[in-house]
Amino acid sequence: MSKVEEFLTPKEEQEIIAAIRTAEKNTSGEIRVHIEASSKKEHFERALEVFYLLKMGNTKDANAVLLYVAVNDKKFVIYGDKGINDVVPKNFWNATKDTIQTHFKRGNFKQGIVEGVLKAGEELQGHFPYQADDVDELSNEISKG
Ligand code: CA
Ligand code: CA
Repeated sequence: MSKVEEFLTPKEEQEIIAAIRTAEKNTSGEIRVHIEASSKKEHFERALEVFYLLKMGNTKDANAVLLYVAVNDKKFVIYGDKGINDVVPKNFWNATKDTIQTHFKRGNFKQGIVEGVLKAGEELQGHFPYQADDVDELSNEISKG
């Protein structure tokens, strides 16, 4: 099994972290990225587990979003907290998913994550605009499984 470090160069990691920072300047929502090789569990279930392992359920407005990626499985999950699900339409994440899928299909892994993060920030902006007194509630570092 290949290691997570092989999926992204340090430079690519920095690009993703920069995208998270940019996205979080549009919205009070908190975005995190978790990358691992594969999961024995069903991916949605695993994403949920990671969400709580990273203590993402504790934001003030319950508006954290996890982009979970299992690289070898070629699967990803976008999981938003309750505060988001309560106010957005059912297909809210479809545009973000399409963006990611398009890049992943071309084998453009890093770009898919970058564009997905930026898109998520734009989508969240309408419901959770950036606040002048914003607190960076969750780390912008990439979590690796
Ligand atoms: Ca914030
Ligand atoms: Ca953050």
